[in-house]
Amino acid sequence: MASNRTFTMVKPDAVAAGHTGAIIDQIIKSGFKLVAMKYLFLSPEKAGQFYAVHSERPFYKDLVAFMSSGPIVAAILEKDNAIEDYRKLIGATDPTKAEAGTIRNLFAKSIDANAVHGSDSDENAQIEGSFFFSAFEQF
Ligand code: ATP
Ligand code: MG
Repeated sequence: MASNRTFTMVKPDAVAAGHTGAIIDQIIKSGFKLVAMKYLFLSPEKAGQFYAVHSERPFYKDLVAFMSSGPIVAAILEKDNAIEDYRKLIGATDPTKAEAGTIRNLFAKSIDANAVHGSDSDENAQIEGSFFFSAFEQF
């Protein structure tokens, strides 16, 4: 994946609350192009693999349970400066600290049910995107 790409998920809380359409709309209106998108249910095993980088953190078990509690939307996004711009668009991990107008400020309920995921580096965007999508599913 080129460095102008990032990976996102609409997390189970936001999907369940009916915010998928509004979030995808905000992403597109903010200048990101959809390269790939999927609606799916992560098994606890798959969620655990995805967040393996956090396996030593105290919230890991809860995070895995939450991410496998309902369907998610996974997507690869393209834009110049995608990683940084998307982190700016989603806002801080803790929604009470997320800037006004950011996706987490608008749609997240708590630090764990925080509406969306965004990759934190080019390397992780590549790893995370290919966790969900083959080359044939990216346009
Ligand atoms: P994400 O990787 O989902 O985009 P992030 O990069 O803002 O979020 P990370 O530090 O990577 O934050 O944490 C991954 C996820 O783990 C967070 O989105 C959140 O759902 C959960 N998490 C992080 N810190 C805490 C915490 N202190 N308590 C509960 N859950 C947490
Ligand atoms: Mg992260």
